[in-house]
Amino acid sequence: MIQTIRGFRDILPEEAPLWQRIETIAADIFRNFGFQEIRIPIMEKTELFARSIGEATDIVEKEMYTFPDRKGDKLTLRPEATASIVRSYIQHKMYAADPVRKFYTVGPMFRRERPQKGRYRQFYQIDAEVFGIASPYIDAQLIQILNELFQRLGLSGLKAHINSLGCPECRPNFQKALLDFLSARKEALCDNCIRRMEKNPLRTLDCKVPTCRQALEGAPTTLDHLCPDCSTHFDTVQSTLKAQNVDFIVDNTLVRGLDYYSRTAFEILTTALGAQSAVAGGGRYDALVQELGGPQIPAIGFAIGFDRLVHIVEQLDQQKGNEGPDLFLLALGDKAMENCHIWSSQLNLSGFRTEMDYSGKSLKSLMKRAGKRNARNVLIVGDAEMEANALVLRNMEARTQTTISLDDPVGEIKKLISNI
Ligand code: AMP
Repeated sequence: MIQTIRGFRDILPEEAPLWQRIETIAADIFRNFGFQEIRIPIMEKTELFARSIGEATDIVEKEMYTFPDRKGDKLTLRPEATASIVRSYIQHKMYAADPVRKFYTVGPMFRRERPQKGRYRQFYQIDAEVFGIASPYIDAQLIQILNELFQRLGLSGLKAHINSLGCPECRPNFQKALLDFLSARKEALCDNCIRRMEKNPLRTLDCKVPTCRQALEGAPTTLDHLCPDCSTHFDTVQSTLKAQNVDFIVDNTLVRGLDYYSRTAFEILTTALGAQSAVAGGGRYDALVQELGGPQIPAIGFAIGFDRLVHIVEQLDQQKGNEGPDLFLLALGDKAMENCHIWSSQLNLSGFRTEMDYSGKSLKSLMKRAGKRNARNVLIVGDAEMEANALVLRNMEARTQTTISLDDPVGEIKKLISNI
């Protein structure tokens, strides 16, 4: 039997509605904030990614699906969307009438990483890019958009980590300080880091090798070397986020894995998928449009890990699904069944979640079912209870029992089950 390629997967019909729901909410927010959808090709010339993402990055060095086509042209399955959107912006001279453009796109990306839950070789991103605005208010706005999306999806426990990577003005000072620091600890660094020291020392801060992590403790930070303009920019990002009630922390170890970032970089981190992982990341890339042959136009963007977001929302839905009903009604006998059915509907209409079993099985097996359904309360209604005018409401969590008369059973039940 032929199966999917390792790290590739089907999104099955049962999963599709959740993907659609998230996409609809995201599209809604983007529309409100003035973004237009753009759709870019899945393959580009390899050179585009090598030049924009950076030769000395994990993506370009190890992860891209690159191959010659039948004529020998070097092509790459896109590992991210920003480079393609920048290419498109320049190719179609979209800046000519007005450099300010806001785009979003949703689609698959390809990176040959080691697959695990939340990490695939074909994965999906929801991507947003803003061109032509250098103002820090836009940096804050992008983080706010992410925050808004996560809130609308009912997610909590996500935290925005932000940092500033400086600009061509102040980065050389930082790089020099970092290089001095690294040179003094060269023996402790891995081969990759030693090579990266020459090409792009910032990337050593991203190394996951434990001995490098140890050696890099106390390394200089970009924040200590920001020029006054970058400093003011970063301050405004922070004060704007505060004014907009967006929760964040400044994380001076955040460097992001791509070369093109300048100034603000951010990631939204979560522990919902086990070890801490990023569900979205982005940053400013004020030099990239020019580097790829366009005019000097500032830009900023982010990418959301769609698969990861789906996993988190799925988990949340599952937790909700495991919550039992407020009341499980146990009807023993025909008259009891009729009463329970009517009471149950009345409770449903008043906003309570109830369940009952219509099979006419024994008390023991109905109790078992109520337990399996995780019911918070059960109501026992049999001929004996009705004759005695004493229905039994059992609180399964507190393990207490209350008797209820038949005068106003629904009213009494409501009081008892909403008290918890
Ligand atoms: P990046 O462009 O690497 O910052 O990626 C942006 C977001 O895409 C990350 O924060 C992840 O949520 C997601 N992502 C990146 N790589 C993968 C992958 N291999 N599988 C699933 N999601 C990914």
